[in-house]
Amino acid sequence: MSAESPLIVAIEGGGTKFVCGIGTGPHQILDTVRIDTTTPNETLEHVSHWISKMKVTHGPIAAIGLGTFGPVDLNRESETYGFITTTPKPHWQQTDVVKFFKHRFKVPVGFDTDVNAAVLAEYLWGAGQGMDPLIYITVGTGVGGGVLVNGQLLHGLLHPEVGHLIVPPPHNSLAIQREGQCPYHKSCVEGYVSGPSIAKRWGVKADALPPDHPAWEEVADVMGYALMNMTLTLSPKRIILGGGVMQQPHLIPLIQGKLMQHMNGYLAVPQLSHDIEHFLVTPGLGTRSGLLGALALGRMTLDGPA
Ligand code: ADP
Ligand code: ZN
Repeated sequence: MSAESPLIVAIEGGGTKFVCGIGTGPHQILDTVRIDTTTPNETLEHVSHWISKMKVTHGPIAAIGLGTFGPVDLNRESETYGFITTTPKPHWQQTDVVKFFKHRFKVPVGFDTDVNAAVLAEYLWGAGQGMDPLIYITVGTGVGGGVLVNGQLLHGLLHPEVGHLIVPPPHNSLAIQREGQCPYHKSCVEGYVSGPSIAKRWGVKADALPPDHPAWEEVADVMGYALMNMTLTLSPKRIILGGGVMQQPHLIPLIQGKLMQHMNGYLAVPQLSHDIEHFLVTPGLGTRSGLLGALALGRMTLDGPA
């Protein structure tokens, strides 16, 4: 590989799978692999073994980029920088993922949340180009959101955790279990619309619910409130909706309608009326935003601070 195109290992660490890739850019991914998320020891060793194999095949790597489920510690001054911290995911609390890869491969490791990685990739190469501020939300096993403002990924106290925004309990719900399913909050977004929450509340897996099922109207309603709160707080130019649950093609128009309904004409901009299909969109990079974002995180460690 030439000096202009260093080889990067990208790792998207999810609750069910770690997706890894090696390449120089979004159009040059040379190899990928999917590794089950079990215990940190087992999973990280599998990833590490794959990286070693890739080095033999493709040559030395310049950096690793890692985007993982959270919460994670992104504060470089902190003793637990680079850790997955208080996750409810069994075995993964207080896991030092950055040090593991840094020590093993002796290269810089770029690190952020999976959703911050995704928003970065969508901004650089996908549906969010030129759109700043930009939000990427995933509705899958959990609900999370990454935010890019002034060309930077938003950190701060921790990082955005938009899945736990409080929303009004769905009105006269027909769900078997009307309550939100988050163990921490009575009425947060994730407790109503994550895949597992939908399954628990309605007694049917989200992917098996027919498009005319009342669950979808409720999912859209809850998402409409969450997106309204984010729009009013962060003033994004665009919001990208990804994740397994969003694979339902009828859901985006439903959510667009609910967002406009909840806004009630308060913000008189085309993006919240006739042009809403350009405001709330699906990922331009399909299901690859997280992986390509991890690649961008790795690449940024070579460019110096972004
Ligand atoms: P992860 O959140 O682990 O990265 P996904 O984004 O694929 O993975 O989310 C998985 C969740 O999405 C599961 O709860 C699953 O039921 C739900 N899901 C996957 N595909 C669909 C679909 N086509 N329609 C509705 N829900 C889906
Ligand atoms: Zn919650």
